[in-house]
Amino acid sequence: MLVVQKFGGTSVGTIERIRHVANWALDSQARGDDVVLVVSAMSGETNRLVELATQINPIPYSREYDMMIASGEQVAVGLVSLAINTEAEKRGLISKEQAYRARPLLGHQIGIRTDSVFSKARIQAIDTQLLRKEILKGVIPVIAGFQGVDPENNITTLGRGGSDTSAVAIAAALRADDCEIYTDVDGVYTTDPRLCPRARKISRISYEEMMELASLGAKVLQIRSVELAAKYKLPLHVRSSFNPVEGTRVVAKELLLSQQMEQVVVAGVAADKDQVKFTLQNIQDKAGVAAQIFGALSAASIVVDVIVQDVPSNGIITVSFTVGKSDHLNARQILAGLQATPSLSSMKMVEETDLAKVSIVGVGMQHHPGVASRMFTLLAEAGISIKLITTSEIKVSCMIDGALVQKAVQCLHTGFNLDRVE
Ligand code: ADP
Ligand code: MG
Repeated sequence: MLVVQKFGGTSVGTIERIRHVANWALDSQARGDDVVLVVSAMSGETNRLVELATQINPIPYSREYDMMIASGEQVAVGLVSLAINTEAEKRGLISKEQAYRARPLLGHQIGIRTDSVFSKARIQAIDTQLLRKEILKGVIPVIAGFQGVDPENNITTLGRGGSDTSAVAIAAALRADDCEIYTDVDGVYTTDPRLCPRARKISRISYEEMMELASLGAKVLQIRSVELAAKYKLPLHVRSSFNPVEGTRVVAKELLLSQQMEQVVVAGVAADKDQVKFTLQNIQDKAGVAAQIFGALSAASIVVDVIVQDVPSNGIITVSFTVGKSDHLNARQILAGLQATPSLSSMKMVEETDLAKVSIVGVGMQHHPGVASRMFTLLAEAGISIKLITTSEIKVSCMIDGALVQKAVQCLHTGFNLDRVE
C-alpha cells in the first residue's frame, strides 16, 4: 500500500509532537507500507507571518505575501525530516547504502505547478518522478503543504487549509491507496466540537455532504481537497494524530446508501463566523450593472455568496451580497473603483462586518419537505433573527448576527436530533 499522511499545524506544533509524527511514519513503514508525508506549518506560525505582512499592507494576494507566508512549511518539513532521520538512526535503519530515511521537499522541488492566483492558487500538475524514485529507495518524502509554483516560477499558496489539498493532489498523482488527514480532532463531527460539546463523530460521510460542510465553514477539511478527492474517487480518512482510533471515512454516496437502512435527513451543522455583507444602494437599474459588479469581483477571484437584489423602485435598485472576511478589504477596494465608473457613480456602499452564516447539510433533505421551515422555526424559538437565506438541494444557510452563532448551532444541532446520546 502507498499511503499519503497529512499532518496539520497542531500535529507538528511542538518538538515532542514532531517526534511523535516521525515515529508514526516509521511505524507505518515498518508495517510494510510506502509512506509520503505532507506537512503544514507549526500551529500559530502562519498567523504570525500573516500578521507581519499585514503591518505593511493589509490586502493579501501578491507574490511577496505568498513567498513569505509559505515559509512556515519549510521549517516544518525540515524539522520532521530531521526527526525521522534521527529516530531511524536509533532504530538502526541508517546504513552506508541507506544514508537517509526521509527527505524534505518544497513545492517547487517536486513541480507542484499552480496558476498565478496568489493566496488562492489552484494546483494544475505535479511531477511524480522524484517522489517515485525516493519511495522506491524506501525513503519517506516529507513535502511542504500549502504551496506550489506558478508558470513564472513564483511561489504561490493555496489558501487557508491548503495543505489538505496538497495532500489529496499528491495522493491522486501517485495513485495512493489511502490518504490520511491527521488533525487535532478524532474525525469529522456533526458540527464543530468547539461550538457544541454534544457533537457526534460521524463514521462515514459522502463527498457531497463533506463538500457542503467544508464550504459552509467546517474547516476540518479545505473544500478543494474534498472536490479533488471526489473527482479521483480517492477515499479520505480524517483522524486524530493524538489518538490512534478510527476516524471518519469520506467516501462516495453509493457506498453510504447501501449501508444505511434509512438516510439521515440532516448530516451536520456548519458555521462560518467570518462573513461581511455589502449593501450597494442607489444603483441605476440598467442592463449589465450586476454583470459589471460581480464580473469585477470574480476577476479578482473573490467568491461572492448569498446575493439578493431588490425589486427596482423608481429605476433604482439595491444589491446585497456577502464575502468571506479575508476578501473584505480587496472587495471594498474593487467596489470603490467601480464607483468611479460612469454607470455606477451614484452607488452607495454599506458594510456589515459582524455576521455569521449557519447552515444545515444533508443529502436526505432532497426527499424530505419542510426541513427549511423547521430550521427557521428553531431559530425563531431561540430568538435569533435571520438576515438572509440561501438554499440548495442539500443545504439551507441563514445569515445571522455573529454574536449568536454558538447559540444557533446548538439549537439546530439539538433540534435536528444530532446530539450525542450518552
Ligand atoms: P489542522 O491544523 O490539522 O489542519 P484545522 O484547525 O484546520 O486543523 O481543522 C481542525 C478543526 O476543525 C478542529 O479543531 C475543529 O475545531 C474544526 N471543525 C470545524 N467543524 C468541524 C467538524 N464538523 N468536525 C470536526 N472538526 C471541525
Ligand atoms: Mg486545516
